[in-house]
Amino acid sequence: MDISNLPKIELHCHLDGSLRVETVIELAKRENIKLDSYEYDYVKNLLVVSEKCNSLDEYLKKFDLPNEVLQTKENLKRAAYELLEDAAKENVKYIEVRFAPVLHTKKGLALEEIIESVINGIKEAEKDYEIKGNVIISCMRSLEISHIYDSIKAGKKYLGRGVVAIDLAASEKEDFVYEYIDSMKFAKELGFRITVHAGETGFGKNVRDAINFLGAERIGHGVYIYNDKDAYNLVKEMGVTLEMCPKSNIDTKAVKTYVEHPIYKYHKDDIKVSLSTDNRTVSNVNLTEETEKLIETFNVNIDEYKEIYINSINAAFCDDETKKLLMKTIP
Ligand SMILES: [Zn+2]
Repeated sequence: MDISNLPKIELHCHLDGSLRVETVIELAKRENIKLDSYEYDYVKNLLVVSEKCNSLDEYLKKFDLPNEVLQTKENLKRAAYELLEDAAKENVKYIEVRFAPVLHTKKGLALEEIIESVINGIKEAEKDYEIKGNVIISCMRSLEISHIYDSIKAGKKYLGRGVVAIDLAASEKEDFVYEYIDSMKFAKELGFRITVHAGETGFGKNVRDAINFLGAERIGHGVYIYNDKDAYNLVKEMGVTLEMCPKSNIDTKAVKTYVEHPIYKYHKDDIKVSLSTDNRTVSNVNLTEETEKLIETFNVNIDEYKEIYINSINAAFCDDETKKLLMKTIP
């Protein structure tokens, strides 16, 4: 199989975790961000997680520098453009880019301006490359609930014009779901689709609760549904797609090795899975490499790849017109 030329769909990709090292160097210099060195290897080390990383919390520290450089409209637009450009070059046909607007307000940008800048970057890349993109607004479980309402209100204006969904991200606690029932209900009533990071680091029950209480239509990761039978059955029966990112799970030590990752086992058991990078830079991986690893590790044949590709199109939060176009790209 010619993996680099296979069409790909990416539903789970964080903008701030996917910046080009060269771009971070250039922007850090321009924004007068003090680093001990601006050498490529040094900066790459600041951005890429090390093998010694022990947890998701440690992994999340790699987002500090990216977020420092993403405090202007121009830089946000550029980051989004470059992400789509990189993805298009590996034949990604559709990508949902997620980021938390609240993290980009340090120099005074309004939430609307932040969202609009990222959309502008996506739109520009859509003109230059054969790729489509949409935005998922991430909200941080580590921050005050009020920012979720602010982010939802700011994103509302762009619904159907680049923004499609709300996501809950960051460190995952047991039973976190109950705190977010009202805010996610608010988002859903306004027309946002819902995806939630859950079952990433140990709590399968969080997946079941995210579906039942938050109306999650997709789950970020969902690795741990195997330790909660009800969550497993619910995901399977409702056809909820798991946005799976194996390399990231290995980085955070949620899974020990690629062979032990449940993605293929789930797929064989009729659970809907999709393959993504999570963070291209932090996890030092692109979607071609993820695809290669999946195909090689589990001996995935082209028909199985097609099934996952079609799952991903069906689970995408884009409009029907885009879905029709994507259906024409099935390998
Ligand atoms: Zn994620």
